Order: sequence, then structure tokens, then C-alpha cells
Amino acid sequence: MSKRDYYDVLGAKKGASADELKKAYRAKAKELHPDRNKDDPTAEAKFKEVNEAYEVLKDADKKAAYDRYGHAAFEGGMGGGPRPGGGMGGNPDFASAFSDVFDDLFGDFMGGRQGGGRQRAARGADLRYNLRVSLEDAFSGLAKTINVPTSVACGQCNGTGSEGGSEPTTCPTCSGMGKVRATQGFFTVERTCPTCSGLGQIIKNPCGKCHGAGRVQKERALSVNIPAGVETGTRIRLAGEGEAGMRGGPPGDLYIFIEVEPHKIFEREGTELHCRVPVSMTDAALGGDIEVPTIDGGRSRVKIPAGSQSGRQMRLRGKGMPALRGGVAGDMFIELAVETPVNLTARQKELLKEFDELSEDNNPESSSFFSSVKNFWDSMKG
Ligand SMILES: [Zn+2]
Ligand SMILES: [Zn+2]
Repeated sequence: MSKRDYYDVLGAKKGASADELKKAYRAKAKELHPDRNKDDPTAEAKFKEVNEAYEVLKDADKKAAYDRYGHAAFEGGMGGGPRPGGGMGGNPDFASAFSDVFDDLFGDFMGGRQGGGRQRAARGADLRYNLRVSLEDAFSGLAKTINVPTSVACGQCNGTGSEGGSEPTTCPTCSGMGKVRATQGFFTVERTCPTCSGLGQIIKNPCGKCHGAGRVQKERALSVNIPAGVETGTRIRLAGEGEAGMRGGPPGDLYIFIEVEPHKIFEREGTELHCRVPVSMTDAALGGDIEVPTIDGGRSRVKIPAGSQSGRQMRLRGKGMPALRGGVAGDMFIELAVETPVNLTARQKELLKEFDELSEDNNPESSSFFSSVKNFWDSMKG
């Protein structure tokens, strides 16, 4: 399924200003919010699409990239995808993203919805990890341990943020609304509750270890299996391995973005591998067997037919890359590069001259062609 244009998704025109985009986004998000569209099964997907579009277009850098390259700007490779939301200790491989847009939304117009003192849990952020692998590893697949700096649920309070794991209580200032109203002259102003910072709940005895946040920063070692056949742009999702949620909320996901390093011999096209193989002039002329390296670390014997020209392609069935989602492995193609001999001995020169003389008798057509070319150049000189 092809992705819709982000401007279309938001119902904004191309090149819309930040303010216009924000307005368009709010209107769409209100219209499509799943809580208001309980009878429409497609509403949630649409809502996510709108959030994704705004996530990109609200960020000046991402917007510029999208305006230039379209969706391709975020599909694998360098610098694409979700970028930092901060808080990851300056590690450029990681980005905490996706969820801040929901904060915008709840903060702006969903503030009065809850109440009743329910646990205000929030899903943890998704993380991105860029992993470079060699073509050999992409061929065979690999098991790897990666260190993920992330925040995890605090063990001391079980993620609740309260000392001893006691439940947070409803904020007495805002009665759980997260907002307070104040009258200033003619106006009634609504602002974030100063007591609970908008959370609607307060923690009477904050946990000593996490200071009430319910999560702590930690580096986790994670073993991942990179399947055979990955290519640059492949994403591997590890559900639930992202940042811990706030106050007992579910964790986010971890996405591993694969980049396959260029190889010194092979060029890859999907599951096909291509390489150039040098062959001697005599092997090319007389035919012969050569050995070529293969990506599995072995060697394959290839028969060179007599009279092969430079550039001739030969196929080694099934010696290419495995298909990521199963199925037949690709083929390997070799392109012959016939080498002209250098540093000839006197004897070799003699033999080649003799060969040349014989060739003229042997190949009257080509010799007549060459002699006509020679005549032409001679006439130009004269
Ligand atoms: Zn409050
Ligand atoms: Zn704690």
C-alpha cells in the first residue's frame, strides 16, 4: 500500500506555514480522535496517519526533507525515520519520539476528559537503533548483543513512583483535571495545575530512587537475531523493548534500522549479487576453468567457454543472497574482464606476432575490416 501525501492527510496545502499546519492538524485530530469515533473501525488508523504526518511536518528539518524527497526521506538509510525527542544522553543512534504528539493533544483539549482519579499511565517512547552489518552477515544472519540506553520501570516502586508502591492520589487542587481556572478581569483563564503539573494526580511519598517518575535510566544488553537477507532500510521491530511507560504504562517499541555496508567485491541488487572476474586472454580464447569467491566464504568453479569476450555474463544459480521472507535464494552473476598480458618475454612476443600473422589468414573478414580502417587513416594522414 502506498503512503498518502502528508499534506493531503492533514488537509493542508503544500508549503503551508507552521501555524496553518498546526491548525489543520488540530482540526483533523479532533475529528478523528478514536474516543469520538467508537463506531468507525478505520478511525484509529486515520488518527495515527494524521499524527504521523504532523510529527514530520511540524519539525522544520523533517519537513524540509519531506518536501524534497517525499516519503523516501524516511525510509531506511541515513537520517530518516523518527529523530530525537531528547533525553537519550546524547547518543546519536537513539531517538525518543512518536509520543510527544499525544501529549500536545491531551494537553490542549482532552484535559478535562478524565477525572475520577484513574491511573494516568502513558506509553513509553519508541526507540531507534541504527545497526551497520557486513554483506556476509546479511547473507548468513547474525545474533548480536546491543546495549540500549533507555529508561526502565523503577524496581523500587514497581514503576508507580510512590514509595512502597502505594497508589498515587487525586490532586486536591484540580480534582484530577490537570487544569485550574482563574478569573482575570473579564477573562477566565485555564492553565495547567501547578500542584500536579497537569498530571491530575500527586504522589504523597515519592519514591527515593526515581523521585516519583516511576522509571530510571539504565543501559540494557539486548540480544537480537538479525535474520538472513536483511538489506539497507530493513527495520526490525522489537515489541515492548522501547522506553518504559510513565507510571506503569506500557513500554514503547525498539526499532532496529539496518544498514548493509558496501562490499569490496560484490554489488547487491535485491537478492542478486554481481561481481567482475578477471580472466586471462588465453583462458578467454581457449576456454578454461576458473575459481570465483562466493559470499558464503567458499569458492565456485566456473567453466569459461572458448571465445569468451570481455563483458560476458555468467550466472551461478542460487549463489546470491537469501530472500528475507523466505523463498528462493537469488543468483550470482559474474562479468568476465579479459586481461591483456603485460611484461611479455621475447619468446611470448614472438609467439604473439606469429599468432597475429596467422590470424590474418584465419579471419579474412576482420582482417579486411582492419585493413580498410588502416587505409582510411593512411588517407587522412596523406
Ligand atoms: Zn492538579
Ligand atoms: Zn521508584
